[in-house]
Amino acid sequence: MDLFEHQARELFEEHGILVPRAEVTDSPKQAREIARRLGGRVVVKAQVKTGGRGKAGGVKLAADPAAAEITARQILGMDIRGHTVGKVMLAEPIDIESEFYVSYVLDRATGQFLTIASAEGGMEIEEVAATRPEAVARVPVDPAQGVTSAKAAEIAEAAGLPAQTVDVLVRLWTVLTREDALLVEVNPLVRTRQGRILALDGKVTLDDNARFRQTRWGDRDTAHDDPLEAAAAAKGLNYVKLDGEVGIIGNGAGLVMSTLDVVAGCGARPANFLDIGGGASARIMADGLSVVLSDPAVKSVFVNVFGGITACDAVADGIVQALDTVRLTKPLVVRLDGNNAARGRAVLDDRAHPLVEQVTTMDGAARRAAELATAR
Ligand code: GDP
Ligand code: MN
Repeated sequence: MDLFEHQARELFEEHGILVPRAEVTDSPKQAREIARRLGGRVVVKAQVKTGGRGKAGGVKLAADPAAAEITARQILGMDIRGHTVGKVMLAEPIDIESEFYVSYVLDRATGQFLTIASAEGGMEIEEVAATRPEAVARVPVDPAQGVTSAKAAEIAEAAGLPAQTVDVLVRLWTVLTREDALLVEVNPLVRTRQGRILALDGKVTLDDNARFRQTRWGDRDTAHDDPLEAAAAAKGLNYVKLDGEVGIIGNGAGLVMSTLDVVAGCGARPANFLDIGGGASARIMADGLSVVLSDPAVKSVFVNVFGGITACDAVADGIVQALDTVRLTKPLVVRLDGNNAARGRAVLDDRAHPLVEQVTTMDGAARRAAELATAR
């Protein structure tokens, strides 16, 4: 689970990292009050779980409480990269001398953590890494050793960060371990003109496997997730929204993942990841189809099923029954293989829905779904 900036800020503060004074609200009127409390001039910041808020107009300076109210009203409800702004954080403005980038992220490939740090913060790190790779230091951290003062000094040295950041680097590691995070990122970490080091923006991703002991964050706050993801989660479906145009439904995460690759290989982009799991009943199929079809970006749907314990004819029955409850508005390409594939295909042939096509191979079906999605 990703945390909001204001939640990350709270964690940083609890672990002794300096942060700007700030408060959160969903009301423009309260924004004015908060600005008054913070001394008048404030930075108004959209609280959305996506980066690039500044560029999208979600971070604005307000000169006084009246301006804070107007700015909060502008930013609340704004759409930033598909996320609707439900809350704003008002923060005391900081007089920045320089901006740095620091993150710790789990590196599954090596079984360690990776520090990414740069003296060129503020911008998106991907951009810095692409244009000036030498400006980005990558330092592995052995999870059993952690970031000691010595390790932090090594990181600061490698990235060209001032020595004062060593203490923050150690504390940030404590945030990561104590809070069960997979990622902590500070961009920018700043040095003020008075020489203080502050975390001006934070991103923390918690390990969902540790939710049982990190109860303060409650259950998923579905209100701020993608609405389709929330609807799917409510139906117990494993659904992830992506940027493309081919809706993808499959049984089993491995099959769905390879389906994404094959569709991408055919020159189309997957619109989502939807794993209906082992028991592809009519209900689950109907729920899955209705979620995928309600995404306006979807131009075609690829149902890719390998029958195992749940045989293909049962899945085909599920699709046929789903077609009775869900109005199909986009072409559906179905590939059934495995246990009882022939019987499953016969069931769909009998139904003879004009928008349903069957292709027997995964590659062929992916190509067809891609073609239908990209045709004008
Ligand atoms: P992001 O765009 O989502 O990463 O939002 P940030 O909180 O990182 O803000 C983007 C940029 O706005 C920062 O890199 C700073 O350059 C600037 N910014 C944000 N807060 C302040 C502030 O209090 N003072 C100054 N001078 N700049 C700020
Ligand atoms: Mn930032």
